[in-house]
Amino acid sequence: MNKMLTTSQIRDALRDVADPISGDDIVSSGMISDILIDQGHVSFAIEVPTDQGYGAEPVRRAAEQAIISLDGVDDTTVILTAQAPAVADEENAAARRKGLDSQGAKADALIKPNSDPFMMDGHKMFWHLDRMAAFQRGERIAPLHIDVGLSKGCNIACHYCYGVTQGNFFLEGAKKVFPRDALLRYMQDAGDLGVRSIALIGEAEPTLNPALYDAIRVGKGAGVDMAIGTNGVLWNTKKDGEEALERLTFIRFNISAGTEEGYQRVHNSKAFKKVIQKIKWCVDTKRRNNLDVTIGLQMVLTPEDADQAVPLAELGAQLGVDYFVIKQCSDTVENDLGIYDQLETYDDFTDILLEAETHSADGYNVIVKWKKILNHGHREYDNCLGAPFLLYSSGDGKIFPCGMWFDNRSDEFMLGDLVETSFKEMIEGDQYWNAIKRQQCDVDVHKECYANCRTHMINDFVWKVREEPPHVNFV
Ligand code: SF4
Repeated sequence: MNKMLTTSQIRDALRDVADPISGDDIVSSGMISDILIDQGHVSFAIEVPTDQGYGAEPVRRAAEQAIISLDGVDDTTVILTAQAPAVADEENAAARRKGLDSQGAKADALIKPNSDPFMMDGHKMFWHLDRMAAFQRGERIAPLHIDVGLSKGCNIACHYCYGVTQGNFFLEGAKKVFPRDALLRYMQDAGDLGVRSIALIGEAEPTLNPALYDAIRVGKGAGVDMAIGTNGVLWNTKKDGEEALERLTFIRFNISAGTEEGYQRVHNSKAFKKVIQKIKWCVDTKRRNNLDVTIGLQMVLTPEDADQAVPLAELGAQLGVDYFVIKQCSDTVENDLGIYDQLETYDDFTDILLEAETHSADGYNVIVKWKKILNHGHREYDNCLGAPFLLYSSGDGKIFPCGMWFDNRSDEFMLGDLVETSFKEMIEGDQYWNAIKRQQCDVDVHKECYANCRTHMINDFVWKVREEPPHVNFV
């Protein structure tokens, strides 16, 4: 038995085998599924179109040869499975084979019922069909949700930080924050316009902005559900922090290591003990005051830090938080964080993630975002139609339909500058809607977009609604 044999090695070996239809290799074509390694025995399936089964036998044999020649493989079972494309033309059928079907099926098989009560690995558009209907009628709708950055920097330096691709310069950037007056006006306008939720989450660390606690007060007072994602180091444990917990729907601590040593490695910081104290304080305050706030931990899973998933799941249970969520690491197509070209290696962490899930208990959910972790970054939709429902504002007060534009092509995609113009004025103007339309029509989501963006699941939903099937009235 070769203990080091991994699904990545199997996939790499199979890249030498070509799909006779597309000319791509059978891994890139998304034809490989259900890889199982049992000691020296390797089995997997090759998905082929229903009418290609017989003709695909040479491909099956070539795949078998590619694997049997690997060190540590004693024998192999390779089966051809029929894939029935739901679309008629060959081009679309090939596109569908690009992996999502098999990976989606794998993710579906791994999802345990009731393991994700907050639907973090999906979307909640079904509960906002009024806004969806207005969008369908072509109305200029208010967004349902905004991710709001409050600063351009951070007090720690996580090695996977997506914010660095958006202009987060850690301590240097921390000097630049969303100005207080403009921020509070924005919170009030959001409520008046019908924005339903705001998460103080974004390119950088929100607790660096001294107006944070007032923003929570004003936003909640304006009728917006408020939430925050923070590294927790600077969370206020006095009156401001306590009053914030009374108003927040959730507070999520971004922590991707369950040990002091791991924390230092992942977050480049010695603040582990301090963060744990802050989380405990929040849990105690919630219990003492019988608050509704949901308290969670979030791990960004990277190939080099997967060893922290189980210790963190245990830590979450000990701390008494409500959930611990493990999410994929987002990266640009340029591979800025070194993750984009490793997305397939996420398949290798299935066992670790399943083990982490075993720590779920009454009132404590370990949530693995299986769909996003296992989809290898593939998209089934061709346009970013979800843009008007979910917006992003940067830590210095500029608002965009996607966080990609904070520090890149901002002239083309900025909806407006909230320091100069109120959100109410902006949403009535053409700049706002032209930029949204540009994102919906001109961005090639398969070539330009980072993997598993925040809007991904909403895009998927809106695309399906727009793509009306034949005989639609036969429900
Ligand atoms: S699909 Fe692309 S443009 Fe749209 S939100 Fe996601 S990353 Fe941004």
